[in-house]
Amino acid sequence: MTTIDTVVIGAGHAGLAVSRLLTRAGRDHAVIDRGRIGESWRSARWDSLRLLSPNWMMRLPDWDYQGPDIDGFLPAGRFVRHLELYAQSFDAPVVSGATVLELSGPGRSGYRVVTDRGNWRARHVVIATGPGLPRVPAGLREVVTAAAYRNPAQLAPGGVVVIGASASGVQIADELNRAGRDVYLSVGRHTRVPRSYHGKDVFWWLERTGRLARTIDEVRDPAAARREPSMQLAGRPGELDLVTLQADGVRLLGRFDGMDRMDGSRARFRADLAETAAAADARMYRLLDSFDDSRGERPPALVPPTTPSSVDLRRAGIGAVLVATGYQPDYPWLRLPITGPDGQIQQVRGITAAPGVYVVGQRFQHRRDSAFIDGARHDAAYVVQHLLACSAEPAA
Ligand SMILES: Cc1cc2nc3c(=O)[nH]c(=O)nc-3n(C[C@H](O)[C@H](O)[C@H](O)COP(=O)(O)OP(=O)(O)OC[C@H]3O[C@@H](n4cnc5c(N)ncnc54)[C@H](O)[C@@H]3O)c2cc1C
Repeated sequence: MTTIDTVVIGAGHAGLAVSRLLTRAGRDHAVIDRGRIGESWRSARWDSLRLLSPNWMMRLPDWDYQGPDIDGFLPAGRFVRHLELYAQSFDAPVVSGATVLELSGPGRSGYRVVTDRGNWRARHVVIATGPGLPRVPAGLREVVTAAAYRNPAQLAPGGVVVIGASASGVQIADELNRAGRDVYLSVGRHTRVPRSYHGKDVFWWLERTGRLARTIDEVRDPAAARREPSMQLAGRPGELDLVTLQADGVRLLGRFDGMDRMDGSRARFRADLAETAAAADARMYRLLDSFDDSRGERPPALVPPTTPSSVDLRRAGIGAVLVATGYQPDYPWLRLPITGPDGQIQQVRGITAAPGVYVVGQRFQHRRDSAFIDGARHDAAYVVQHLLACSAEPAA
C-alpha cells in the first residue's frame, strides 16, 4: 500500500490538467490509468477521427497548441502525442496499466484506491475517468458501438444502419457512405450547427458570444443542458449535416424505436424526423441570430424525406448496426455514496459530498465547455484550488 497526498484516476486531458496544477503546487500525487496517456484517443476512437474543435481550443494549464495550423483539426493520434508531450513537460507521475477496481473510505489515513497493480491510500482523489460506457438502446444485440468502430472494412459486408446523428453518428455515416456502403441513419434529437458562419469557425462565435463560458447555474434546466446532444460537426472545413448526407445518398430515418418483437430482424423507427429536424434547424437559426444581427446566409433547412416506420434488416441487406447514441456513466469501482439516480457523480464545480473526493471532465460540470479539451482547465483550477485550501499541509 502506497500512501500519497492525492490520487488522480485517469490520464486523459482532464486528469493531466489536474496533475499539472498539483505539480505546480508541489503536491505529491499519482495519476493512475488503466491504459496509457490519452487512452480513450488510442482505443475508443475510429482511425480517421480528427478533433472537431480547432487547434486553438487545446488550452491546458501551461500548455497550448504550438503548431503552424492554429485553425486546423488534429487527428486523434497527434492529439495523443500532444498529451504525451504535455505529461513529459512536467514529468507527470503517471502510473500506466493500472485499472482502479475500488475506491472506498475514508479510513483514518484517507481513501483506499485498489488497482490491479497495487493499492494507494490518499487524502484526496480526483476522478477523471471520462464519459463512461457507450449507451446501447434496449433491444439491440450484436451492434458495433462508435467507441469500438475503427473503419468500414471492420464491418460485415452489406448496408449499415447507424443509430444516432450527433457528431460521431454523422461522421461515421459519412465515412461508410463514401466507402460505398448503403447507409441508413436513424435520427433522434440532435444539435445542428454550421462549421463556419461569415467566414469564422462556429467555435470562434461560441467563444466570442460567451456561450462556452455559460455556467450551469445560468441555464433554466440544468439536467436537460447536461443531456444536450453533441454538436453535429466534423473536424474539417465544410458542412456535414443531414442536408449534405441526404444529398450524398444516405437514407434518413426517424428515431430508433426498438426491434419488432415478432420479427427479430425488423427494426422500428418513429415517424418523427420532420419534427426533430425542424426543431434542430430552428434552434440553429436562433443560435445564428444570437451571433450577429446581420441575418447573413443561413444553411438550408432539411427537406425531410418520407421515412419508413420499419426496416427489415435482412431483406435490406444490412450487415451491421452501428450505435452512436452517446455515453452513460460507469463507475462499478466506486464504493462511495456520491452518485445520483442517473448514475452520474453528483457534484458542484467538481466537489462531491465525500470530503476530499473531486471529479473533472463531466458534461457541463460547471461551464458549457467543461467536457471539451479547452474547458477542462477551468474546472481543474477550481478543484485544485479547493483541494489546496482544504488541506494546507500535505499528509505526512
Ligand atoms: C468521439 C469523440 C470525439 C470527441 N472530440 C472532441 C473534440 O474534438 N474536442 C473536444 O474538446 N472534445 C472532444 N470530445 C469530448 C472529450 O474531450 C472527450 O470525451 C475526452 O476524452 C474526455 O476527457 P477526459 O480526460 O475527461 O476523459 P478521457 O480522455 O476519456 O480519459 C479518461 C481516462 O481514464 C481512464 N480510466 C477510465 N476508467 C478507469 C479505471 N477504472 N481505472 C483506471 N483508469 C481508468 C481511461 O483509460 C482514460 O485514459 C470527444 C469525445 C468523443 C467521445
